[in-house]
Amino acid sequence: MNYQAFLIKYAEIGIKGKNRILFEEALVRQIARSLKPVEGEFEVTREMGRIYVRADGSFDFEGAVDAMRHVFGISGICPVVIVEDEGFESIAQAVVRYTAEVYPESRAKTFKIFARRSNKSYPKDSMQLNADLGEAVLNGCPWMQVDVHHPDCVITVEVRKKIYIYSHVIPGPGGMPVGTNGEAELLLSGGIDSPVAGYMIAKRGVTIDAVYFHAPPYTSERAKQKVVDLARIVSAYSGPIRLHIVNFTDIQLAIYEKCPHEELTIIMRRYMMKIAESFARKDGAKALITGESVGQVASQTVDSLVCTNAVCTLPVFRPLIGFDKQEIIEISRKIGSYETSIQPFEDCCTIFVAKHPVTHPILKVIERSEKKLEGVIEPMIETAVSTAETVLVES
Ligand code: ATP
Ligand code: MG
Repeated sequence: MNYQAFLIKYAEIGIKGKNRILFEEALVRQIARSLKPVEGEFEVTREMGRIYVRADGSFDFEGAVDAMRHVFGISGICPVVIVEDEGFESIAQAVVRYTAEVYPESRAKTFKIFARRSNKSYPKDSMQLNADLGEAVLNGCPWMQVDVHHPDCVITVEVRKKIYIYSHVIPGPGGMPVGTNGEAELLLSGGIDSPVAGYMIAKRGVTIDAVYFHAPPYTSERAKQKVVDLARIVSAYSGPIRLHIVNFTDIQLAIYEKCPHEELTIIMRRYMMKIAESFARKDGAKALITGESVGQVASQTVDSLVCTNAVCTLPVFRPLIGFDKQEIIEISRKIGSYETSIQPFEDCCTIFVAKHPVTHPILKVIERSEKKLEGVIEPMIETAVSTAETVLVES
């Protein structure tokens, strides 16, 4: 089928008044961004509460659909055929051609025409158009019958300056357009969970930047590349991500040297949160995001989360908190991060782990252990922040 445009469907619940305009404008911006690398010239417009993507000339249909399936806020993508208005006969022929091609006998047996006129002075009203176009399809596609209640397909025919024909809806990712709900800082590791956590918060319209802690030479260049790759996969949905790569080696070694080994992970995590907050401030992010899930490992018991959370002054979003690993894996497969996440490169946490980490840490005890780092750790934190490498990652 020779499609020339897409009608973009989006969920409108809860977006009334001024918010609706912001929502639609952000959606237009995100769609345009997603289509930039796709072959073809596209124009994205907002008209009377609807969003259209028009292609000027030939374009990569599959590529365009794939790009838009990454744009949060889109609930459905309808490929549209546009024909000139050369009188009713030509419209009827185009609708029959469309139906025959998109809904051959093997795909549909019943249909309904849903005609809309934006131009009220058009000689036939919607009811008449429904009846007359229905008759044309019955004649032209003999395997089809009308069913106005439960049709296999609804063929929409919009009469505007030109005629728009569509019916087929390709599901979008849902959610809200990125840029409509503030910004948050993702603690991104090379694991399965944190990319999924970033995806889920971006899906709610939140712009994302990220911090990754590595420990060269204990962690490799490949481990770092893996995190850049993961950020790129998330950025296909969230838009460009500023990724701060923080050298955490000295801090980890200091903790290792001075603090009880069973508390290493908790203390390390607390410093990660603190440093992530300083990047959040720089980036204008007002919350942190982690991939924690309650009970998944020793550092994610309720008591451990209490200790980690206690250093934070910003809200911490933990979208996976109630998810099983298997559920997280399913999302990571769906968004395309799983294969990268399971590449076997150590991130810093897996190297400095204790054999028997505390599972029920007591905040006061942890804070007492951290006292041993006083005077030493502050300049290290400053150095870690000031020497961080920042890369802009986009897909
Ligand atoms: P993930 O699969 O995201 O690595 P995980 O199950 O391995 O999660 P942990 O290693 O306990 O869990 O980490 C918990 C969370 O802390 C991660 O989801 C991530 O948000 C953050 N985190 C852990 N390690 C790092 C790191 N090296 N850099 C940045 N954030 C990290
Ligand atoms: Mg991890």
